[in-house]
Amino acid sequence: AADREKVNSVAKIKVVVRKRPLNKKELAKNEEDIIETLSNSLVVHETKLKVDLTEYVEKHEFVFDAVLNEEVSNDEIYRETVEPIVPIIFQRTKATCFAYGQTGSGKTFTMKPLPLKASRDILRLMHRTYRNQGFQLFVSFFEIYGEENYLISSVIESKKLFMREDGKQQVCIVGLQEYRASDVETIKDLIEKGNATRSTGTTGANEESSRSHAILQLAIKRSVDGNESKPPRVVGKLSFIDLAGSERVHVVQLYHPTHIYIHAAQTLDVYLINFAGMEGAEINKSLLALKECIRALDNDQGHIPFRGSKLTEVLRDSFMGNSRTVMISCISPSSGSCEHTLNTLRYADRVK
Ligand code: ADP
Ligand code: MG
Repeated sequence: AADREKVNSVAKIKVVVRKRPLNKKELAKNEEDIIETLSNSLVVHETKLKVDLTEYVEKHEFVFDAVLNEEVSNDEIYRETVEPIVPIIFQRTKATCFAYGQTGSGKTFTMKPLPLKASRDILRLMHRTYRNQGFQLFVSFFEIYGEENYLISSVIESKKLFMREDGKQQVCIVGLQEYRASDVETIKDLIEKGNATRSTGTTGANEESSRSHAILQLAIKRSVDGNESKPPRVVGKLSFIDLAGSERVHVVQLYHPTHIYIHAAQTLDVYLINFAGMEGAEINKSLLALKECIRALDNDQGHIPFRGSKLTEVLRDSFMGNSRTVMISCISPSSGSCEHTLNTLRYADRVK
């Protein structure tokens, strides 16, 4: 009962925003910091032009579960987002942490340290609180590109993979290697290997990372009845997702925010031709599908629209049953990114 309570005390969905500092490029262009932050709200100061071309400032206020400004360290980000969900994955819970935002907003900077910090805490719990209870930790790390012609590759072995549905409508990734890790060093090596492949790209192109979704999963398993000869069963899972750059989504949302919101899948085909390039639309589809799934979860709707995209199909089991979601929306503070920032915040606002 105490364990149940522990699980119930963690919010189903948490949306936080992280604002990064102005970078050299932005400073060189004399761009200004237009984001004013408070502990759980922020104000965007948007400069607009009147018909007579005089400037005025429009303020947009947003409220989230937490707003973390440019002075907040990665340790504090961890404490605010992932740390509270680590203990409950031992209680049959699946949790997912996403980073969303335009390219260059700090998604990878934010996500990279989280799995290792979480693994440390998981291993500590395994070695202390749950000592000799047969729990094991497994790591896998892969990327998804595109939709219709999607591609999955394991970044640890730098190998192309494919997705298949089994008889129970469970989506599985064929050939995805899960690594058992009983110490932090092993995990660190695996994560570094994956990150190295990611930044150079499986295909060798550098900008790949902004177009793919990177998914690192930590699975806690336990052998059935202490029987080590049988394959262990999954108890809980913690997924870290560094989403593809959201900039193309913004272009679309800017024109028809409510439209997209209601009929994501259908309208996308139209925008595919009108506004965004092919691959932008594919990224769109998965980000919009993701938003729909998170919303359905939050409203406790029986039907969750996983079929909306490859990304959500792959994540299906993480959303089933007892699940927790943390979304970190990353934003640039600069005046030059105002439109992208507003759209990132609107996306985050609708997830909640
Ligand atoms: P994204 O993954 O969203 O494309 P990155 O995480 O690669 O963006 O961040 C872009 C650049 O900004 C990187 O050089 C990164 O080190 C830097 N950066 C991002 N967030 C912060 C932050 N909070 N503090 C300091 N530097 C940051
Ligand atoms: Mg990145």
